[in-house]
Amino acid sequence: MEKRKELLIPDRTLMGPGPSDVAPSVLRAMASPLLGHLDPAFLDIMNRIMEQLRQLFGTENYMTLPMSGTGSAGMETVFVNSLEPGDKVIVCVNGVFGQRMADVASRCGAEVITVEAPWGEAIQTEQVEQALKTHAPVKAVAIVQAETSTGVWQPLADISAAAHQYDALFIVDAVTSLGGVPVEVDQHKIDICYSGTQKCISAPPGLSPVTINERGLASLNQRKQKVQSWYLDLTMLQGYWGNERVYHHTAPISMNYALYEAARLILSEEGLENCYQRHLKLGRAMQAGLQAMGLVLPVEESIRLPQLTTVEIPEGVTDADIRKQLLDRFGIEIGGGLGVFKGKLWRVGLMGSSCREKNVISFLTALHLLLKEQGCMTDIKAGLDTFNSRL
Ligand SMILES: *Cc1c(COP(=O)(O)O)cnc(C)c1O
Repeated sequence: MEKRKELLIPDRTLMGPGPSDVAPSVLRAMASPLLGHLDPAFLDIMNRIMEQLRQLFGTENYMTLPMSGTGSAGMETVFVNSLEPGDKVIVCVNGVFGQRMADVASRCGAEVITVEAPWGEAIQTEQVEQALKTHAPVKAVAIVQAETSTGVWQPLADISAAAHQYDALFIVDAVTSLGGVPVEVDQHKIDICYSGTQKCISAPPGLSPVTINERGLASLNQRKQKVQSWYLDLTMLQGYWGNERVYHHTAPISMNYALYEAARLILSEEGLENCYQRHLKLGRAMQAGLQAMGLVLPVEESIRLPQLTTVEIPEGVTDADIRKQLLDRFGIEIGGGLGVFKGKLWRVGLMGSSCREKNVISFLTALHLLLKEQGCMTDIKAGLDTFNSRL
């Protein structure tokens, strides 16, 4: 028999746009023995996960469940269920994930109307109002709360009100926001919301929490055609995750163990409010530290996410070299720019278990050393002192 090399995973600190570091107890949960997916013991775990997700989303929605697939599967779920061919949908685009929503929506046969803002800026309510006025009736308005490609924290309240004024469903991508900043589905009157496990929830990629309210369900029940996707059809999944427990597909058992433990750490060990505070405090402190070092953050502080920071790459610095050395010498992963920001900025995540003081200190110090080797001087003393003073 041919001998294969053992799986050896290098030591890493995940400070990119996801996945984030996973706590040891989450890894241990995944190594627990399997249960049959209709075993009453697993059904009990499913119930507890749905309850945890309601707390994380800030909702009482009965229909709140983890879809089997990564965040993009959640995105696809939401659009294939809410849109039918010919429906008009307004998609807000100010980064990669807005673009992806527009692509997914158009594949559903919907007429996609995009409302755009420059990358690094927020979508303005008036733009959405104008589009609603021009194109009424519109089935839904979709927007990304935490645009991971730019680091923008999109305000939702006014856009939600505008959507409802025109009787459109309000759809929110909360992949990078859930667990990091408040999503508050009920308070924001979000009709349909989806997220992922690999960002601020700090479980591995593989599940996508989705929640839908009565209004969303009513629209789903009024569909003229079946949902195009069998796998992602929420009307069928209702039977599996709801009271009937009829077989639809086999839930990824171990991934659900991981999600349960990761959510338990947030809700029962740390507390959701404390978890938001940790992200906000460390994120803002690191951002102040980076600026004190002399680096430039392109997003204005009032709309800047704490859990995902974009940093301009200084003139004359080679992007790929810095990221390779961060990884090879210091074991630190950060992200490069996407789309129009490719080669122009770095994306630094402080999500979930990665959001720790020691990670910021290592990152700022390592970045300073590597930039210096490329002839770019930063004031590391000011950076560390400023960071520390903000904690
Ligand atoms: C990461 C991300 C996604 C996609 O999630 P995957 O787990 O990569 O499929 C969607 N939207 C936003 C805002 C994201 O950050």
